[in-house]
Amino acid sequence: MKHIMLSSSQYATTLPTFFHSTVSPQQAPNPKLVALNEPLAKALGLDIAWLRSPEGLAFLCQGKTATNTPVAMAYAGHQFGHFVPSLGDGRALLAGDCTTCDGHSVEIHIKGAGLTPFSRGGDGKNTLGPALREYLVSEAMAALNIPTTRALAVLTTGEMVERDQGAVPGAILVRTARSHIRVGHFQYAAAHGGIDYVRTLADFTIQRLYPSLTTHRPERFLEFFKEVVSRHAKLTAQWMGVGFIHGVMNTDNCALSGETLDYGPCAFMDKFDPMKHFSFIDQQGRYAYGRQPAMALWNLSRLAECLFPLFHPDEDKAIALAEDALHGFDPQFHRQWLLIFRQKLGLETEDEHDIRLLEHILETMHTGSADFTNSFRALGSTQSALHGDYRAVRELFPTNKGHFDLCRTELLHRLTQETRSPIKRQTAMNSVNPLIIPRNHRIEEVISHALQEDYRPFLRLHSALQSPFALTEAESAASAELDPLTAPPTAEQEVQHTFCGT
Ligand code: AMP
Ligand code: MG
Repeated sequence: MKHIMLSSSQYATTLPTFFHSTVSPQQAPNPKLVALNEPLAKALGLDIAWLRSPEGLAFLCQGKTATNTPVAMAYAGHQFGHFVPSLGDGRALLAGDCTTCDGHSVEIHIKGAGLTPFSRGGDGKNTLGPALREYLVSEAMAALNIPTTRALAVLTTGEMVERDQGAVPGAILVRTARSHIRVGHFQYAAAHGGIDYVRTLADFTIQRLYPSLTTHRPERFLEFFKEVVSRHAKLTAQWMGVGFIHGVMNTDNCALSGETLDYGPCAFMDKFDPMKHFSFIDQQGRYAYGRQPAMALWNLSRLAECLFPLFHPDEDKAIALAEDALHGFDPQFHRQWLLIFRQKLGLETEDEHDIRLLEHILETMHTGSADFTNSFRALGSTQSALHGDYRAVRELFPTNKGHFDLCRTELLHRLTQETRSPIKRQTAMNSVNPLIIPRNHRIEEVISHALQEDYRPFLRLHSALQSPFALTEAESAASAELDPLTAPPTAEQEVQHTFCGT
């Protein structure tokens, strides 16, 4: 029986060695499986019993079978605005490609398998806290229907790894993506190879991620770029809709597939604050919640700088086309943002003043110290959405209840234009406003238990995050049990900073 259908990645077999280096991953001294995403493994046609066997664990740690050659990818990147010409997979390797049941090819990537030619000063290792964080948050994003890399497994390696806080357990995260190609890949091609390498990479990316554009027409490169712009406009709006802060939107963490990539110091916001940022290394708030659309556009501008010579033989015309495509970002982002936030309020019709209503509500959340997730969810409660009684929601705006009353009046007035029945409206709201998100203080808590080898809180949180919307009566009743997971942090529980864990 074939235990795993894994081929060398298309990335490694199609692209020249300029873009990758073969690696010899180290075997972990004593690998132990902490989490295996069985639904994902099944969707990839992987044999679960084998994955749990010693050979399966060795595969999950090293990404090596008889049929594939793991590689480390080469890429550059702007980190916090500063260009680093050579980054690459310093603690990760691209094992190969798997085909999903519905025929998509996905990459298997192993983070923490040891040194690669791109490790620079690092040790190539990953640790348990960041691996569990990525597992929880990326799977929560998938359950929230947001494009993302997926987490297949977390293992401890059996060795301790030195970090700032002392020796911590080494770990491996196995993840999947349609592709791990980042904006930084194009920057690498442009910086070290020139336009022929950029073209080769663009054609490969088009063929893998945008196959409907696979033609020999010269316009394909501009069409491809416009598609990437669209995907990121939509992705960023989706992040905003759930209060997600990526935390490290460097160009090396910006995927051409439009999947959320690299869960380092990411976090979900509790109290609404447009300038909220958590990452310890982001002291200036470059990647704050409200700056994410501007930063996505900044990253796409860096991509445009690499691609534009392919848009037209005349340089001025090529630059004008690139600018025009970049100008498409703002209107697309705003359209998506409005669509998402109208849905969050349960609005089916469109009114030209909706943006003002939404801005007023968000502003009041900010001044009222309201929890972003719980306030939107409460607007869809039976009490408010069916009986028009907003007293419980008002309590969620402790420092500006007066303004909340004004918002409520505006909202009730706006709802008179809606024709949908209140019950349908409530169901629609509850299908987009999550009850449960991976709150920072809960993540930290489950990690601290996991460091004591108690994985039960981690598994419980992970399982709750799989049904973030809890739509049925039974689920809502069960949600009472989830209360500690849905509650915002108290002042003492509030997490001030998140860390990359590198
Ligand atoms: P990140 O902040 O995770 O996006 O990583 C930025 C760059 O640093 C990438 O090139 C990583 O491969 C590299 N890197 C991060 N941590 C390590 C590590 N422990 N060892 C080697 N390289 C690392
Ligand atoms: Mg990264």
